[in-house]
Amino acid sequence: MIKLHDKSFKPYLTGNEIQGHIKQLASRINADYQNKLPLFIAVLNGSFMFASDLLKNICVDCEISFVKLASYQGTQSTGSVKTLIGQDMPMKNRNIIIIEDIVDTGKTLYEFLPIIRSQNPASVEIASLLVKPGALKYDVNVKYRGLEIPNDFIVGYGLDYDGLGRNLNDIYVINSTGNND
Ligand code: 5GP
Ligand code: MG
Repeated sequence: MIKLHDKSFKPYLTGNEIQGHIKQLASRINADYQNKLPLFIAVLNGSFMFASDLLKNICVDCEISFVKLASYQGTQSTGSVKTLIGQDMPMKNRNIIIIEDIVDTGKTLYEFLPIIRSQNPASVEIASLLVKPGALKYDVNVKYRGLEIPNDFIVGYGLDYDGLGRNLNDIYVINSTGNND
C-alpha cells in the first residue's frame, strides 16, 4: 500500500507486467510499420515513461515528437482539453501514431485528433498503454492498446494523482475499501 496526498493506493500492475504488454504492442507496430517511417506523437505528461519504453522496443525507422494536453484535475476528468503546446513537426503525408498513457472518456483524443487530421497525415492511429472501456464516452478507436482496465483511478508509471506518483515503476489502483488510512 502507498499513500499519495490524502489517498491510499494498492499494487495493480508490476513493472515487469507493464514491460510485457509494451513488448507485445511494439511487435505489432513493428510488423505494421515497416518502411512507413512512423512519426510518434507522445501526449505529455502522463505518457513519458510509456513513450520511452515503447520506443526502445520499436525497431523500424521512426521519429518522435511531444505535445502537451490536459483534461484531468485531481481524480476527475474536467471534460475539456485545456492546453496544447509543442506541436511543431510537419505531419503532411506522415504515418502518425499518437502515444497516450491511458484513454478514459476519450475526450482528450477526440479533441486532439481533428488537429492532427487537419494537417493531412497519410494515416493516424493511437497507441495507449491502458484503456478503460467502461468510461469511454467519445468515439475514438484505439488500435494499439496494452491492457483494458476497470473504471478505477490508477497512478504510477507516468500517471499522477495531483502531481505525485509519476515516478513509480509499478501501477497502483486507488483503495476503494473506504479505509484510506
Ligand atoms: P480522457 O480525455 O480520455 O477522459 O482522459 C485522458 C487523460 O486523463 C489521460 O491521458 C490521463 O492523463 C488522464 N487519466 C485518465 N484516467 C486516469 C487515471 O485513472 N489515473 C490518472 N492518473 N490519470 C488518468
Ligand atoms: Mg495522458
